Order: sequence, then C-alpha cells, then structure tokens
Amino acid sequence: MIYYGKQLITEEDISAVVKTLRSDFLTQGPAVIEFEQAIAEYCGVKYCVAVANGTAALHLAVAALELSAGREGITSANTFVASANSMLYSGVNPVFADIDSDTFNVTSETLKAKISEKTVLFIPVHFAGQPCEMSKIKRISESLNIRIIEDASHAIGSSYPDGDRVGSCRYSDMTTFSFHPVKTITTGEGGAITTNSIVLYNRLLLLRNHGITKDPDVLDKHPGQWYYEMQSIGFNYRMNDIQAALGVSQMKRLSNIKQKRRALVARYNEAFKNIEGFKTPIEKDSLESCFHLYVVQIDFRKFGISRSEYMGKLFSMGIGTQVHYIPVHTQPFYRKNYGTIESDCPIAMKYYNQALSLPLYPGMTEQDQEYVIEQIKNMAGK
Ligand SMILES: *Cc1c(COP(=O)(O)O)cnc(C)c1O
Repeated sequence: MIYYGKQLITEEDISAVVKTLRSDFLTQGPAVIEFEQAIAEYCGVKYCVAVANGTAALHLAVAALELSAGREGITSANTFVASANSMLYSGVNPVFADIDSDTFNVTSETLKAKISEKTVLFIPVHFAGQPCEMSKIKRISESLNIRIIEDASHAIGSSYPDGDRVGSCRYSDMTTFSFHPVKTITTGEGGAITTNSIVLYNRLLLLRNHGITKDPDVLDKHPGQWYYEMQSIGFNYRMNDIQAALGVSQMKRLSNIKQKRRALVARYNEAFKNIEGFKTPIEKDSLESCFHLYVVQIDFRKFGISRSEYMGKLFSMGIGTQVHYIPVHTQPFYRKNYGTIESDCPIAMKYYNQALSLPLYPGMTEQDQEYVIEQIKNMAGK
C-alpha cells in the first residue's frame, strides 16, 4: 500500500531513541532542550517551547496571549479543526476566512473581510507547506492591534519570499508546529511554539507545566530548594525525552526531506501538466514550500465519476489518498453553535469539492511515484 503520507524512520532515529531509553531522563530532560535549540536555530528565532502535540502548541499559544473572553479570532476555513478549536479553549470565538483559489491559503483580503470590532487574533494556516502572504497580513493587523499566531503545522522547512524561514516569527507573535507522523518531521506525537518575545516565552513555559514555577525571582517566599509555587493555572503539555530524541535526529535530515519532497512534487507536476480537468498545485513566486501535502484539484464531473469512486479505484490499486480539508465552518459543531453556513466561505467550498491529496512522503521511491502517475494517467485516459 502506498499511503498519502508516511513517516520516515532511519536507523539513526532508532539509535537516538534507544540511547534515551538507556539514559536517566524519560520525560522532559536534555533531549527536549536540544530539540528546542535545534528548531530555534533552524528557524532563526529566539525561543522555542516543545510540547505534547500540535494542538497543545496552538492551545498554549492562544492562552499565552491572555485575550479577553468573548473576543473573536479569524482562521482559515481550509484547515484541521484544531486551528479553530484552540481559540475556544480560551473563550475566543472562531470566525472563518475564505481562501485564495490558487494557494488555498487565507489572504490579507479574505481576513479583512471577516474583521469585526471584536477581532483580536489571526491564525493563518500555511496550507500544505506554502506560507501565507504574511507581510500583508501583518500590515493589516498592526493598525488594529490584532495578534498573529501562525499555524505552521504543515510548514517546518518552508520559507517566505524574503528567504526568512517559517518559525522565525518575523511576521507574528508566535508560530506553532506539529510533529504528528504524517507531518514533515515527526516525534510520534509532538508540537512546538516559537517566539521572539521573552514575555510570551515565560508564559508558555509556565502553561506547559501546571503554572508551576521554581524561579526564586518570582516566588512569594523561598523556604528551600524543594519549594515551588503554582501562581496561575496551567496544563501538563510536556514533550518527553523519547519524543525529543527522535525529533533531534529528524531535524538533522530536514534539508534532505525538503529536497526529496520538492523533487517528488516537481515530478508529479510535470507528469500531470497535460491532463484536462486536473489542476496541479501552484507555488507562489520566490517563496519555498517544504510541501507537506500534494493536493490536486480534479474536475470529477469531467471524469464522469464521484470523488468517492475515484478514491476507491485508487485504493483498490494500492494507492491511498485523502481530502484536506472538510471546511471547518461546515462541521456540525460550528454550524450548531456559531451559525456558520456553507456560503460563508464559497471558495473553500469549491476547493473542497475538487480536492484530493496524492501520496507524498520522503520515503516514497521513484518506482512508487511512477506507479501512482501511471494509474492516474490511465484513469484520465492518457
Ligand atoms: C496536524 C495539524 C494540527 C494539530 O496537530 P496535532 O499534532 O495532530 O495535534 C493543527 N493544525 C493543522 C493545520 C494541522 O495540520
């Protein structure tokens, strides 16, 4: 079976994890610090906080902003539910912005269209790895005092048009990553937040660990080295050293993984360029996507077949595909509680009806890819 996405675990990864299992630290220890430093260095950012998963990263990022409840945050309709849910944990109401029909990302314009007096937050999502137009988004946020968290769950390894890397927080307060096995690099489950703000960094550290501090500078009293205080409410969102050891090892290969993903995408694009009713992804000028997904737009009517049948046929040939994403504003929870309707985001709906993610992962062989290409061309009568 060729899956739509799959982790790549090497012997080095396995040795790194085994080494940790033989060490003194299983939960948060030296490997977590090493992993955080590796991410911070790679992204060109001051601080990084590793956490249990990408959803926890988003949850803590929103919580660290200490926004007042009842305000609104705007995210993409075309994302995983966690981007929106993360706001609800802090009492901020999610609003959904439509996407651009070429990049499938929110834009400064689609965000602007959803701004209200209550808007205090943007969570742009770098869909499939392609960064959103952050300089424009930052510009509209500044005059309105809107904070920005980039959901870069798909985009570690990607860079903006100016060459800065996603995660540098050049255009945002914080950036979050996910290291779920289908994502670009993995720690099994895992996530991270990057920021250049010492204030946000300190809040994130507290929130990750129950709101507990041992820092003598902030303690009410200091009777001894055993002593700690809980001064605010936090969570247990720690990453453990077993996960982090895998992450450190995976980070060493990120440039290779990026090269591999981009090469696979280039070959797909070339192979599919003459199929009618089959639109391959577009990468905007001068930015570099470390493609997490390869999403094509298929006019299924032209093929005289439903998407479900199309996916079923590929599946029977051993090819896994997936749909990213069911527009979040159409989820029953949001329809019932927030009154969202399909037409709130018409481009996301149109995109969704034609979207299909084809297999893309760093361990994909040329043979595997050739097989996928052949079957798809056959189905298109080519
Ligand atoms: C995967 C993903 C998340 C959540 O990450 P987990 O590590 O699975 O919790 C959030 N947002 C987007 C866009 C994602 O793809």
